Amino acid sequence: MLNNRIPLRNGSKIAIIGGGPAGSFFANFALRLARKMGLEVSITIFETRNFTRAGRSACNMSVGVLAERLRERLDQEDIQVPPRCIQTEIERYSFFTQDDHLQLHHPEPGHKPRIVTVFRGAGPVHSHYTEDISFDNFLLRLVERRGARVIPQEVKDVILPSHIQARTQVLYGDGEELPADLVVGAFGLNTPTIEHFGKKGFGYVPPRTIKSCILDVPLGKEAIAATCNKTIHVFALGMKEIEFASITPRGDYLTIAVVGRRDINISQVKEFLSHPVVVKILPQGPEVLKNCCICFPKISVSTPFQPYSDRLVIIGDAGVSRSYKNGIESAFVVAKLAAQTAFREGVSKEAFERGYYKPARKIFARDNLYGKLMFRTFDLVASQRRVLTERLEYARVHRERWIAHRINEGLWNLVTGDAPYKEVFFELFNLRLQISLLSVTLYGLIKQKFGIK
Ligand SMILES: Cc1cc2nc3c(=O)[nH]c(=O)nc-3n(C[C@H](O)[C@H](O)[C@H](O)COP(=O)(O)OP(=O)(O)OC[C@H]3O[C@@H](n4cnc5c(N)ncnc54)[C@H](O)[C@@H]3O)c2cc1C
Repeated sequence: MLNNRIPLRNGSKIAIIGGGPAGSFFANFALRLARKMGLEVSITIFETRNFTRAGRSACNMSVGVLAERLRERLDQEDIQVPPRCIQTEIERYSFFTQDDHLQLHHPEPGHKPRIVTVFRGAGPVHSHYTEDISFDNFLLRLVERRGARVIPQEVKDVILPSHIQARTQVLYGDGEELPADLVVGAFGLNTPTIEHFGKKGFGYVPPRTIKSCILDVPLGKEAIAATCNKTIHVFALGMKEIEFASITPRGDYLTIAVVGRRDINISQVKEFLSHPVVVKILPQGPEVLKNCCICFPKISVSTPFQPYSDRLVIIGDAGVSRSYKNGIESAFVVAKLAAQTAFREGVSKEAFERGYYKPARKIFARDNLYGKLMFRTFDLVASQRRVLTERLEYARVHRERWIAHRINEGLWNLVTGDAPYKEVFFELFNLRLQISLLSVTLYGLIKQKFGIK
């Protein structure tokens, strides 16, 4: 047993700042662990957004893809995403380069993926859904039914304990206070609260972030079926400022996400929308900007330092998370680690360092480095335009060969996030595959050098 000076007891109070996925998942695990250990604890979630409204202010901005592995994890927690929340069931991905594209399918033949898209709030601005379609609201109301209390107010500040036995004070609403044995910071990246916590002096350094862009374009189901039938399009177009981009069907909308190497701006988004490959899919080009819901959410690009203190733990995007892929799943994983630590090892700084921070870093932080390495290597390959095209063409024409299977599996795992970046890196850049592709690579290089089409 670790430092056990501050265990949770009967009557302990847990305050969670933020009712996005990380906050709701923590509440779910905490309620289950308390029941298992026979403890009566009270759990309060503070959430400012009203997820039943449409538009940006009610939405935890994302593309809303729920990965297959997340759905399996949710099943284990008896969390079934209701059909009213599911916008589109995704069957495949299409991987686009400047000259070609490759359709990717689940590596297991005949397996129907359980990937779906959802809205985080009640849909894009000006949408009018009659049902409660918000995924975040579904999770929040679920944990409320399971025993958490939800206060729809903003947390203004927390006062950290002056000594280890004292409680943390949560200041919220119009001067109200809640003493808490544990405060969970699940406030995400898109809030001033994160900077506020970074200045509190207990050692927390928030993750570095860059601004991305999301557009929801209202097209209607028929037009979407014609352009993007149950398919997520992923783009590696060799554009200098753009790390990656995707077009995802979400019910009546096409959701376009553009992630840059630095903060993305509107002219880079226009450049992407004007690219000939994109125009083939979305002929309106930048015109779609006139009639869409647009936002610039932050994405984390580094690991935070010390997201914990005595009686305080910071999780989700504001804590340790996976870069670029499956943020909701990583919120699930770290919420579980943090809740298990709090109930089994106590709520001291030492307990969170060992039970939450170190394992979470091991799972995500090191893997994120492989992610970065892979994206850089990919840029290098993509810069040799003809080489990439030849490789994709080979994989398409020789579908039955092991090389094609390996390329499909590596790219599938990359775009879905189904495997850690480290695994994908060794799948795509392993020596046997590279040697087998040598002749194709040389052929591509020769074509490129002599300008042969
Ligand atoms: C471009 C882009 C695309 C993405 N696409 C996907 C995707 O397809 N699939 C996926 O799994 N992930 C995706 N993500 C990541 C995903 O959105 C996040 O990882 C996830 O939302 C993190 O959950 P969270 O609970 O930590 O934070 P958030 O979802 O940001 O929730 C934080 C909550 O805290 C509340 N809050 C903040 N401060 C306070 C306060 N002081 N008082 C009370 N409440 C407060 C906020 O209102 C908010 O509801 C994407 C992200 C980006 C930027």
